[in-house]
Amino acid sequence: MTHAPYGFTTQQVHAGAEPDPVTGSRVTPVHLTAGFVFDDFEHARARFAGEDDGYVYTRMGNPTTAAVERRLAVLEGGTDAILLGTGQAAITVALLGILGAGDHVVAAADLYEGSRGLLLDNFARLGIAVDFAAGPGDWERLVRPTTRAFFAESVANPKNSVLDVPAVAAVAHRHGVPLVVDNTFATPYLLRPLEHGADVVVHSASKFLAGHGSALGGAVVTGTGFDWSGFAHLTDPANVLAGMSWVERHGPQRAYVEHTRSVVASRLGPAISPFNAFLVQQGLETLSLRVGRQSATAETVARWLQARPEVVGVDHAGLPGHPSHDVARRLLPRGTGAVLSVTLEGGRAAAQRFVDAVQLFTRMTHVGDVRSLVIHPASTTHAHRSEDERLAAGIWPGLVRLSIGLEEPEDLLGDLEQALVASREREGAAA
Ligand SMILES: *Cc1c(COP(=O)(O)O)cnc(C)c1O
Repeated sequence: MTHAPYGFTTQQVHAGAEPDPVTGSRVTPVHLTAGFVFDDFEHARARFAGEDDGYVYTRMGNPTTAAVERRLAVLEGGTDAILLGTGQAAITVALLGILGAGDHVVAAADLYEGSRGLLLDNFARLGIAVDFAAGPGDWERLVRPTTRAFFAESVANPKNSVLDVPAVAAVAHRHGVPLVVDNTFATPYLLRPLEHGADVVVHSASKFLAGHGSALGGAVVTGTGFDWSGFAHLTDPANVLAGMSWVERHGPQRAYVEHTRSVVASRLGPAISPFNAFLVQQGLETLSLRVGRQSATAETVARWLQARPEVVGVDHAGLPGHPSHDVARRLLPRGTGAVLSVTLEGGRAAAQRFVDAVQLFTRMTHVGDVRSLVIHPASTTHAHRSEDERLAAGIWPGLVRLSIGLEEPEDLLGDLEQALVASREREGAAA
């Protein structure tokens, strides 16, 4: 059920899943099974030969997971999706489907710390080099003859910088390389990067897609806009058993996703549990309602915080004056997401008092939950960076990150107000 004319909110509850033909179950059943039965010798042989498209083993594919993959592909405006165990797994699989030893990737400087570490540490040890683009002009400047991919986040944490997807995609395509976009913070409800020139979208489904803070998941989504015939591992016939290359077998547009699914994801092995896939699917069914509301409340909170005397800065791209405001207005008309940062005038000590004073906000390292969350990046997620690196990234000692949930906006403002008052108090002084 993927009729193109249906709108987003219709697709999020219908796309990719029909009632179960055997039992009549309306909701996609959770197929918790390692493998799938072969009727006889010949049936097993045919499945392994790929002569019928039934399931073999859950690491390679599972009907619950496949239903969620079909839905997510539709919601992102793509053709294929691969659901994986975590967002980190999705990023690793997506990039290792493109890159090998000797290759180079240009990545945005504003990157999730897990992705940054993956590139700087794990990938470096595999012989994959990285450079970080800090400004729009850097993408072109950092390209080398060995550059094989661009990687960036649609909306980056914690400064809320918004990627100019069409502009960066144009540079990537001029050099024959794909743009991979981590769309975790925007979600396909706010932005569909494939429609703006990106070639591969990755997600931490643990955040807004699952949405309730109860399950981890990740996804790789692709469309058909990129010609992969410039990538030797997809054109070399030696890479497939049947003597045909991935490009010959699946065409230059789908070679990457087929190879990534059956060679990279299934060999590295970070499969998602069908139960967690089911939780991601349940989350997707209310995605627009949650993200629309959370994003609107975040903007209310951002405006309110900006007017407070304890606050020296608010990073939310919906606010005029934010460096990404114009890009956000062009690419994200429905809102810029539910995550923002606020910098307190009193620095680290004020941030500590603020974090300790919140009552409704939960102290937790996560975003996109139905509950509002708070964390102090400089002492947690970004603690291993040097002070100079943090300051260069705009992560001031007084910066606190908020992820806005589904609570009543007035209740959140009430909690923030009492925490801001608490943040002002000198240690040991009476209130
Ligand atoms: C959380 C997150 C990840 C990692 O996802 P996990 O599901 O925790 O592995 C990657 N990118 C971004 C932007 C994230 O917020």
